Amino acid sequence: MYTNPSRPTQGVATHPPRVAIVGSGIAGLAAAHTLQGLAQLSLFEAGDYFGGHTHTVDITLPDARGQATTFGVDTGFLVLNERTHLPHAAGAV
Ligand SMILES: Cc1cc2nc3c(=O)[nH]c(=O)nc-3n(C[C@H](O)[C@H](O)[C@H](O)COP(=O)(O)OP(=O)(O)OC[C@H]3O[C@@H](n4cnc5c(N)ncnc54)[C@H](O)[C@@H]3O)c2cc1C
Repeated sequence: MYTNPSRPTQGVATHPPRVAIVGSGIAGLAAAHTLQGLAQLSLFEAGDYFGGHTHTVDITLPDARGQATTFGVDTGFLVLNERTHLPHAAGAV
């Protein structure tokens, strides 16, 4: 059991818990970020990059003036809007 070091409790272990996170998609990375400093974390990833389905690739296209411009395009996360992601903010719920 982990306790806040600034509020020690008699008879209770004060070492942080060990937590294994399997997968470095947004869920795993968000869990790791949230638990940072609260637990001894081990992050396991089967792939060769972090991010899971979120995966940004650089694409170079001409801009409005015809100049080559490089854009970062995420191939696994293109849509983010109030209707599908933030129903409370959109007043739908
Ligand atoms: C083409 C595409 C377009 C999308 N577009 C959108 C969009 O526009 N808007 C939107 O909101 N969502 C979109 N999504 C969905 C969104 O990308 C996913 O819901 C989100 O990324 C899932 O995150 P996750 O962390 O749950 O899982 P994942 O991103 O799948 O991550 C899981 C990770 O766990 C690893 N893993 C699995 N098994 C093991 C194991 N045994 N040991 C170690 N590691 C393991 C995998 O390698 C992977 O890295 C899209 C998905 C795809 C594929």
